[in-house]
Amino acid sequence: MKNFFDPKSVALIGATEREGAVGRVIFENLLKGRELRKIYPVNPNRESVLGVKCYKSIIDLPETVDLAIIATPAPTVPKIIEECGESGVKAVIIISAGFRESGEEGRKREEEVIRIARKYGIRILGPNCMGIIRPSASFNCTFFKKIPKAGSIAFLSQSGALGSAILDWAINADIGFSVFVSVGSMCDIDFGELIDYLGRDPETRSIIIDMEFIGDARRFISAARGFVRTKPIIVIKPGKYPESIKAAMSHSGALASEDLIYDAVFTRAGVVRVDEIKDLFNCATILDCAVLPRGPNLAIITNAGGPGVIATDALISMGINLAKLSDDTIKLLDEAFSRRWSRGNPVDIMEDASADRYDIALEACSNDPNIDGIIVIYTPQGAATPSEVAGIIIKHNERRVKPIIAVFLGGEEVEGARQTLLWNDVPVYSFPEEAIKTYMYMYQYARNLELLYETPDEIPIVESPPKNHLKLLIKRIAKSGRKYLTEEEAKRFLKVYGIEVTTPYIATNPEEAVMIASEIGYPVVMKIASEDIVHKSDVGGVKLNITSADEVRKAFNEIIDNVKKNASNAKINGVSIQKMITDHDYELIIGSKTDPVFGAVIIFGMGGVEAEFFKDIAIGLPPLNQTLARRLMEKTRIFKMLKDGYRNKPPANIRLLEEVLVKFSNLIVDFPEIDEIDINPLLLTRNEAVAVDARIVINENVANDNVREYSHLLITPYPTRYVQHWRLKDGTPVIIRPIRPEDEPLQMEMLKSLSRESMISRFFTTIKDITHDMLVRLCNIDYDREMAVVAEYRPLHGRRRIIGVSRLTVNPDWESGEAAVLVIDEFQGKGLGKKLLDVIIGIAKDKRLKRIYGYVLASNRRMLYLAKELGFKVKRVSPEECMVYLDIC
Ligand code: ADP
Ligand code: MG
Repeated sequence: MKNFFDPKSVALIGATEREGAVGRVIFENLLKGRELRKIYPVNPNRESVLGVKCYKSIIDLPETVDLAIIATPAPTVPKIIEECGESGVKAVIIISAGFRESGEEGRKREEEVIRIARKYGIRILGPNCMGIIRPSASFNCTFFKKIPKAGSIAFLSQSGALGSAILDWAINADIGFSVFVSVGSMCDIDFGELIDYLGRDPETRSIIIDMEFIGDARRFISAARGFVRTKPIIVIKPGKYPESIKAAMSHSGALASEDLIYDAVFTRAGVVRVDEIKDLFNCATILDCAVLPRGPNLAIITNAGGPGVIATDALISMGINLAKLSDDTIKLLDEAFSRRWSRGNPVDIMEDASADRYDIALEACSNDPNIDGIIVIYTPQGAATPSEVAGIIIKHNERRVKPIIAVFLGGEEVEGARQTLLWNDVPVYSFPEEAIKTYMYMYQYARNLELLYETPDEIPIVESPPKNHLKLLIKRIAKSGRKYLTEEEAKRFLKVYGIEVTTPYIATNPEEAVMIASEIGYPVVMKIASEDIVHKSDVGGVKLNITSADEVRKAFNEIIDNVKKNASNAKINGVSIQKMITDHDYELIIGSKTDPVFGAVIIFGMGGVEAEFFKDIAIGLPPLNQTLARRLMEKTRIFKMLKDGYRNKPPANIRLLEEVLVKFSNLIVDFPEIDEIDINPLLLTRNEAVAVDARIVINENVANDNVREYSHLLITPYPTRYVQHWRLKDGTPVIIRPIRPEDEPLQMEMLKSLSRESMISRFFTTIKDITHDMLVRLCNIDYDREMAVVAEYRPLHGRRRIIGVSRLTVNPDWESGEAAVLVIDEFQGKGLGKKLLDVIIGIAKDKRLKRIYGYVLASNRRMLYLAKELGFKVKRVSPEECMVYLDIC
């Protein structure tokens, strides 16, 4: 990756002198960095380009370049890549267009390019991209003449037009970049990989992305989750208009629009999504340095009524609360201002407010536990000068108790104060709405960060519902050529996972129906039972509230008649009879669909046959735990009603709903075979949540062969299966389990307790400051690409401790991984190191890695011996260091 950002030698294939040609502009731009790197023009038709000796082919160059840039017509590209491969080039940027985006021929060409690149191990950025700018390295291989100054924002751009507009905007606003990368159509290097790289780039403090599509979604989410733990990512992604949806498609497949899914992915990745260019930069700087709000409750301090009102309006529309001042604050301000203030929020301190008044109000709000953030509005009108007020704000901001955002209305007279505020890291705006919006983003970001620490479990093996018979059922149905499960079959799945249902019993004639109905007890609901009918009401196939035997007979015949009329080809199995739920308050939908890019997503919202009309739904990513389930529900409008009740409807049992969602998520996690599933509706009564209708569509491909566990999930659950009990040689019991985010304090303690020797043998250096960042990276891992297993010691008396940890880090090639193990001094020599390393070998095997390896100091005899015992081979890589490796298959 370094070759892309700061190459020591570059070849431009397609360099030319022709005025206006891309090959010329890029070459000119490259030449600006000629003191720092070798620049070679390549063009078979020229002797020289702009006075620099030109080569016929990349093969003719006197050296193997770090980076080749291709700006020739698309049909020539495959051959050029082949030549790059032959000459040993490992990094290529394809500027040329004419690939996937240009139709079938282009798509084939792109496949060809990928194939050749793989053969030689070449990494590609593009095609159809604008290149890279690394200001600090004077490297610019784009065709932009004006480039931004060096700074700390990395800009990953996908859309040509939007990207150029953003770059322009930033240059005009004098914003600095650590790097600009135009990713084009991402045939190889994509967002995920770039984010991973930038996470280790010391120049980058935040990333902004203009995105058209995500690339490898799994990689994106896992890279982003790693990055945002310490630095923010902000995305602008123009929403798509939802495709016009066919009538009466009240199911998840139709309800989960791509745009909503993107929202869900960004939320879980900890990424903030904005909708305006200026917000991108605004957030990139502010989210990196501001104190983040702990809640949505905002106080507004103002010396003018009007802007306070505007701010209040803006706030409500953005889901921010106007904080309710505490009694203490009111009392304090009453005394200080002798009651001459608004005596509520907005805290209007009157047009004659002195700087002193601002000081007192800020102090009070900072101390008020009801307030999470403060907006200070200043209109120049007398008593206080702008610079005095700015000074006060800066003083409070430096205490870093709560986020403070300033709004300075007015023109030139406040300009100086605005500058001072900015230099001192106080965000300042000219309009209240902008300030509120910034607060909203800060709050969103803070909330998303909290979610990063939510890693739901796999279902523990002991609690795992009996699912094998259902797997067989799906297989049988798929084999018979059927795609839809009947209501009755679908409800079996729900029942097994602990969700209450009204079981439908099928009758084939009216008399049988009467018998079933009397057994169930009136009132009952009757529905058509047919494998071919998905939306039963649409064909007159549902009769509600049937209260007597006569009505049953009548309904039976009517349903059959209706269906014969409205769906003449449908095969009819009979009519099903189920209990009628009579006293429900709410009708909800819970569903899931498997998206080709994002895998399974979970849908929650307002249900019933009109769900499609209201489109009040939210999307979450499985696995869900209770917190995540709650967050999912909170995103809908109906949630407010569920929480507080409405008119004659009492509040819903939210806890119960959370449980249903978690159970539903468990089902989704266990069944990659399910393509789509809906509970519509789930009826909510005072103390029950009952699925009265269910529908499952099976994914034929999956049903026919064995799928990898969790391959349909973007986020891997906490791997409970690696939890085990074990005893040290001396009989001490320990629990061996994957690490969790909550282990941070224990991990800290463990590292601190290490002897110098142990520290050096694990990290090859002594670490003086164990920072929070470091610990987060160690404890809060992505189980997909990394695994750390700890040995936890729980003495009868005394505190829990982590006494050993082993770790496997999967390389980006997903074929090999680096392993390491560490046991604290007092527990060494008891077989724990061996056990922990053995567990890692097993995990590597499960992950289908081909090789694991690790580095060991040559002087660390004990470790080398242990590795050999476990079958590792040893290779000396330097006088002090050995590599040990184990081929798994
Ligand atoms: P469709 O295939 O048309 O979605 P449903 O089984 O969902 O058919 O029935 C349509 C509507 O009838 C539901 O949205 C719900 O309001 C109501 N309904 C269905 N079954 C029951 C039941 N067992 N108890 C109460 N109402 C029901
Ligand atoms: Mg339904």
